[in-house]
Amino acid sequence: FISAKGITKSFGNLEVLKDIDITIDKGNIVAIIGPSGSGKTTLLRCLNALEMPEKGTITFDDNFEIDFAQKPKKSVIKTLRLKSGMVFQSYNLFPHKTALQNVTEGPLYVQKKNRQVVNELARQLLDKVGLADKLNLYPHQLSGGQQQRVGIARALAIQPELMLFDEPTSALDPELVGEVLKVMKDLANEGWTMVIVTHELKFAEQVADKVLFMDNGVVVEEGPPEQVLKNPLEERTRQFIQRIM
Ligand code: ATP
Repeated sequence: FISAKGITKSFGNLEVLKDIDITIDKGNIVAIIGPSGSGKTTLLRCLNALEMPEKGTITFDDNFEIDFAQKPKKSVIKTLRLKSGMVFQSYNLFPHKTALQNVTEGPLYVQKKNRQVVNELARQLLDKVGLADKLNLYPHQLSGGQQQRVGIARALAIQPELMLFDEPTSALDPELVGEVLKVMKDLANEGWTMVIVTHELKFAEQVADKVLFMDNGVVVEEGPPEQVLKNPLEERTRQFIQRIM
């Protein structure tokens, strides 16, 4: 399993994450919900060292540990980043590269893999997300839903142990949300380990093994979706669910 312990992060005087612990079992889907500004995105980015926490550790099984309090080496940070693939809210594709080139970028230039092998892998991944006929199109020639599916294929391309999704559908027009959620459901069924920051409570209820409710930089409540989304133990969770349902 993967665990993060004591993750603490401030921006200036603002303590955004206060000693957060999270455990993710292999093959499980963890959904993180909570009000705007509660620290969900920051937590996700800390799991990938896109933000550097001041304190805390992240471990993968018995074979990797990073301790942020000890100023980790660049090589350790790079190893962590290659263990998880990040899917961003606003896709973050390279605008001047085709769908295929966006997907091959990481394996080619970061992992230094063989071009032929990587091209084949990228084709398979773009096929998997339903874009086999769009390999050579540029992001501006794709719909938001298609761009986000390229984003998912790109994150998969480094063959990570963990997939991180930061509100992957919140920038999409409502009619395009379903196609992205479907790809995510397929990944869940294939046994991928995933952490998803989401406002889609219905989706969380359908796919998550565990739901974390965050407020004000702490995990207020965590448990199975039937508990956290349907029958929360904490008053703060109850109020949040009622507000957005
Ligand atoms: P949302 O649902 O709106 O995306 P969130 O729960 O993901 O919110 P974060 O984006 O993690 O919340 O932000 C938590 C807090 O940290 C907010 O008060 C935000 O303004 C602040 N914050 C986030 N990133 C930075 C940054 N780079 N510099 C300064 N403050 C930041």
